[in-house]
Amino acid sequence: MTEEIKLFSKQKTIYPRRVWGKYRKLKWLAMIVLLAIYYLSPWLRWDRGEGAPNQAILIDIVHTRAYFFGIEIWPQEVYYITGILILAAIGLFFVTSLFGRIWCGYACPQTVWTDLFVWVERIVQGDRNTRMKLDKSPWNFHKIYKKTLTHIIWVIIGLCTGGAWVFYFNDAPTLLDQIIHFDVPLSVGGWILGLTFSTYMMAGFAREQVCTYMCPYARFQSAMFDKDTLIISYDKKRGETRGHHKAGDSWEGRGHCIDCSSCVIVCPMGIDIREGLQMECIACGLCVDACNNVMDKIGLPRGLIRYDTENSTNDSKQYLKSLIRPRTFFYIAIITLVSSLMLYGLLNRQPLELTVQHDRNPVYVTLSNGQIRNGYNLIILNKTHDNQLYSLKLKNLDNASLHIQGGQEISADNLYVLADSVGHFRIFVTADKQPEKRQKIEFEITMQTTNVKDTKDSIFVSNEK
Ligand code: SF4
Ligand code: SF4
Repeated sequence: MTEEIKLFSKQKTIYPRRVWGKYRKLKWLAMIVLLAIYYLSPWLRWDRGEGAPNQAILIDIVHTRAYFFGIEIWPQEVYYITGILILAAIGLFFVTSLFGRIWCGYACPQTVWTDLFVWVERIVQGDRNTRMKLDKSPWNFHKIYKKTLTHIIWVIIGLCTGGAWVFYFNDAPTLLDQIIHFDVPLSVGGWILGLTFSTYMMAGFAREQVCTYMCPYARFQSAMFDKDTLIISYDKKRGETRGHHKAGDSWEGRGHCIDCSSCVIVCPMGIDIREGLQMECIACGLCVDACNNVMDKIGLPRGLIRYDTENSTNDSKQYLKSLIRPRTFFYIAIITLVSSLMLYGLLNRQPLELTVQHDRNPVYVTLSNGQIRNGYNLIILNKTHDNQLYSLKLKNLDNASLHIQGGQEISADNLYVLADSVGHFRIFVTADKQPEKRQKIEFEITMQTTNVKDTKDSIFVSNEK
């Protein structure tokens, strides 16, 4: 007879117990600040003048613009987004190499919203033991009431989360008015519902499973760890041999861990840190608070579980020294380089930009009088919030004439581009046949109100061979 081996086990529900202490307070503070930033940011206003959006942080998909206070990013300046992504990634590596997974424990949206949902669960259903009892009890009015209320509050939080997200992509007051009158575009409604559902599922049900099974960061963060990285450590030397302890008993010949399991039952990931550092540990520090509270009660020094490095200095001066090492220098160098480049780009950002595209087919035309004509597409980006007139000059081509398609009213001294818009112009350059097959030429535009210029190189083709 063969015995059936079960390859999968049911996911155990985790009922983290309430804990109070330094790191719990820090987590509350981080949660309040981050949620406030998330929910309130779309309501900040920033005056950009008439006709421009006055929302401080806005990703305007319809008009392909991103606004962040005084900074405006056009699609042609997508390198700023690349820079921000590089800074975010390297910043995360830097923080991880110094302080381990504090991003996961304090600032990751999954942690913040899960914390909020667990808090709601605790307020409505009670702490760990009461919740466990309630889950085991048969369905009755009391249980249905508690569970329904919890889920209603979760859905409301999910709705606020999805609702706040769409405000980043639309004018918030206008959109709120549309939402109140059930008059939102289908796409916006879809985003709100999608994000409500994902928040409800991720923070209400998936919780620690997102960190363990879905988040790639948990898998590769160990590559950023070294012996000086801050991790949550259980002091085995001091704690073992563990065992229950009665008041008045001697501590001789035994460890300081009284095997009370407080560190395990407060853990939102459901792990026992005494078994060593595990991939699931998000470094939230709640087990540190729990153990410190126990140590206070039994009159032993705190820090049996603590933030420490593998070099286990437990010495703040030594730890501060270890912050400076090749890896951290490397990260600081990249962060400084990328942020300096971005800052330089922003400080020297021009209010106009010229792009020139030479015709590919035909590359040139021979006119009946023997002269050569080349065609170009000129694109002028007017990044100001006013309508502008531009003058166009051609350099490095003798006796050339410029013709701009579009009627009498358009000339090289009279290129008109609307505020915050892109102007497209069709240009023909006519000149005598040049000795060079491809004569290098230069287009220059000048914004008439400010005299700001931009130039672009191009070619004048006289001969294909
Ligand atoms: S082991 Fe401690 S630090 Fe790690 S997740 Fe659990 S409670 Fe947080
Ligand atoms: S809380 Fe401290 S004393 Fe209690 S089991 Fe954990 S490590 Fe041991």
